[in-house]
Amino acid sequence: MDIESARRFLRLCERILVITGAGMSAESGIPTFRGEGQRWQNCDVKDLATPSAFDADPRFIWDWYLHRRSVVAASGPNAGHYALAEWSKDRSEVTVVTQNVDGLHEQAGQRNLVSVHGSLWHNRCTKCGHERIDRSIQYADLPRSPCCDALERPAIVWMGERIAMSDIERSHAAAFDAEAVITIGTSGAVTTVTSLVAIARARCAEIFDINVERSAVEAHCRLFGTAGELVPKLLAA
Ligand code: NAD
Repeated sequence: MDIESARRFLRLCERILVITGAGMSAESGIPTFRGEGQRWQNCDVKDLATPSAFDADPRFIWDWYLHRRSVVAASGPNAGHYALAEWSKDRSEVTVVTQNVDGLHEQAGQRNLVSVHGSLWHNRCTKCGHERIDRSIQYADLPRSPCCDALERPAIVWMGERIAMSDIERSHAAAFDAEAVITIGTSGAVTTVTSLVAIARARCAEIFDINVERSAVEAHCRLFGTAGELVPKLLAA
């Protein structure tokens, strides 16, 4: 199916699940995880997104997250984020599940958004789990929670950690009901994506994948190109 046929198909659907990954924000200048050269001070960034890395050296991990905050703070949503937000404005049955933690969908005005992997801009108390918004991009001393005066950590779902039950329920409900799924800029390597696509496929939803290369998403229709270029075309009126 070409992009024009995909666009016409989607115009006939009401219940649509959109799943976005790091490639959605690549054109905003935010590096993906599995792209080339994703290292921070000589460490593979995938090894930093773990609870054990934080336990071993919280200052190092916080410095990496503060660096990521400063990259995002200097960027903004791209044409793909804006097109998706605008298109879903009047579509109450569109749900967007993002693996991204950068907050760019929110900044573009996205409604019905489930941020399954948390937010770069939230801190969590390591003692009681309370979360608060924090927009700092530097800490002289590591942050401590106002509730327990305990060390705070980034409120991100790290490798091996569980997604919040409320987010699982919302995203599974959207996958169960969807007539179509659009995956955008995700390698499809994370079970968050594969399980939602599997649920929707089993319910006969049509799966569309936008990516610059062939991803592992089990799509019926692959649209090759960047999110910033293809999302506005696919969702054009
Ligand atoms: P990933 O890094 O594994 O894969 C990115 C995918 O995007 C690749 O398949 C790549 O081919 C594709 N891509 C790159 N540029 C693109 C573009 N301009 N348009 C369309 N596609 C493009 O990302 P993932 O599958 O989302 O999994 C990585 C994990 O890392 C997620 O859990 C996410 O939370 C986290 N992460 C988030 C951010 C962010 O918030 N922006 C950035 C890096 C990693």
